[in-house]
This record gives sequence, structure tokens and C-alpha cells, in this order.
Amino acid sequence: MGKVCVYAGKELARYSFGDGHPFGPLRFGAFYDEFLQRGLDGKTVTCRPVIADQHAIERFHDHDYVERVKAQSASGVGFLDYGDTPAFPGVYEAAASVVGTTLAALDAIMTGRCRRAFVPIAGLHHARRDGAAGFCVFNDCGIAIETLLQQYSLSRIAYVDIDAHHGDGVLYGFNDNPAIFIVDVHEDGRTLYPGTGSGSETGIGAATGTKLNIPMPVGADDERLASEWQQAETFLRNVRPEIILLQCGADSLAGDPITHMAYTEQAHAMITRRLCDIADEFSEGRLLAMGGGGYHFANLARAWCAVVEALVENV
Ligand SMILES: [Zn+2]
Repeated sequence: MGKVCVYAGKELARYSFGDGHPFGPLRFGAFYDEFLQRGLDGKTVTCRPVIADQHAIERFHDHDYVERVKAQSASGVGFLDYGDTPAFPGVYEAAASVVGTTLAALDAIMTGRCRRAFVPIAGLHHARRDGAAGFCVFNDCGIAIETLLQQYSLSRIAYVDIDAHHGDGVLYGFNDNPAIFIVDVHEDGRTLYPGTGSGSETGIGAATGTKLNIPMPVGADDERLASEWQQAETFLRNVRPEIILLQCGADSLAGDPITHMAYTEQAHAMITRRLCDIADEFSEGRLLAMGGGGYHFANLARAWCAVVEALVENV
């Protein structure tokens, strides 16, 4: 009881597209240095990364796509999508390590070995069932959700995404699934990749009304987030989720080189605190946070450590 697990290790740092790419090799270290400096290793349980087996990856992804990643991982040539996500030697193992680590964290929560967990580098929310997109090879969020459905038979799963980019891979992966409740607060698709996530996208068919997309204007700050969050809070309390997954991308902080929002790390702390309360009330405390984007190192370190601190203070 009361434990927060944080996953750390070089296997996570290996998920990177090289120097000069926004999703470069130094992101993990930027977080981990700050994590140690704040003494958070003494307040959490550090756990090692785990590599997923192919079977687990295929709970969400199509077999043919997974085989294609394996082949391009061996050759290290070309792109896995239309130009954002290059292949490199070992990309399959690196992406499978992100997935396996997210699933290990999920398992630790579901079996009661910890109450909350944080996985940096994870939260690769753009990958589709049949392809890579936006620096995301395998969608560990989608695989975690499929695992909760298939292995744990949950029927009310909340996925909250505060990355600057809309989590299109998760939304379209579960747009017709009424068991998956999505709250996605992101920069308006008219000014930022991937262009989706308008407020009118609420789910389809039997799932209509189970997705809440909140597009934010350029320059949206903490105050704007706090005011928009009210509707998300009401939505989540009505859902009474059995678990909450959080994609806490740090690219929604002011100064990110590829987005245009203006949060501080206090936004990430506030959302995490609110979700801890909801998780305690409805979800047996279960809250899994996945790092997501963030391409300004100091921002990434501050935002992710703010999430971990909020988990520790509210466990
Ligand atoms: Zn992002």
C-alpha cells in the first residue's frame, strides 16, 4: 500500500531517433538527473524496464505491421511512417521495451504491488493499429488498454491525455468502444499535428459520448487549463473508472520547440493531484502515468518530476 513505482533504465533511453531529432537520446537522462537531484529515488520504488513479447504488442497492433517493424529494425533503413519516425537498427527492441515497461507498471498496479506508477519515455499515443506515426512506433497506451480489456476484463477504463498533441492513435483505436473513456486536452488541431481532436469528436456508435476532446488555443496557460478541467472532472466522476491512465506529455509547457502552448509544470502537478483524488474515490487508487512528449529538456524534467512528486504526495 502507498507505494509509487518509477521505471528507469538505459533500455528506455534507447527509444530515440538520434541526435538532431526532437525525440533524441537525451530525454531519459534529462528526467532521471532531475529525479535523482530532487531525491525522488528515496521516495519511490525504482523498477527496471521489461521487454514485451510480440504477442502482447499484437493485442493492439496488426501482425503485419509488427512484422514490418521487425524487418526494418534489422535493416535500420527507411521510415516507419511518412517521414517523422525513422527506422534504426534495434528499433523493434527499443519500442518493445517501452511497451513491456508500461505493461509491467500496469501489472504492478493491477496486482496491488503499487498504487501509482510512472513510466518515462512511454505514452506513445500517435501509433495506429496498422502503422507508426509522430515518433511513435508501438502505442503502449493502446496496448495497455487492450490488456485491461482482455486480461483484466475491465469495463470502465479512463485515459487522460494532456500532451500538447492530440492522442489520435488512442482515440481512433477505441473510438467505437464504450468501455474506454477518453479525456484529451491538447493544442487545437488547426495549429498543430496531428490536426484531429475537435470537440465534436465524442466517439461513434455505441461509444458516442465516451470521448471528451478539449482543443486549446495557442498560448493556453495554467489558468485556462484549470477552467477547462472542470468539465473533465465532472465527466470522469460520472464514469467512475476502474483505473486511470494518464499521458502527461511535457510539450504543453511554454517554450517547447515544436508546440505553442504555455503551461508551467504546475499544470501537470494539478492534473495529477486531481486524478489521484478520483482514483482514490473510484478506482482503488489505480493510476498509471506515462511520460509522453516534451522536447525542451528542462521542461520535460520539471513536468515529469512534478507528476512524480504529486503521485508521492497523494498516494
Ligand atoms: Zn506531444
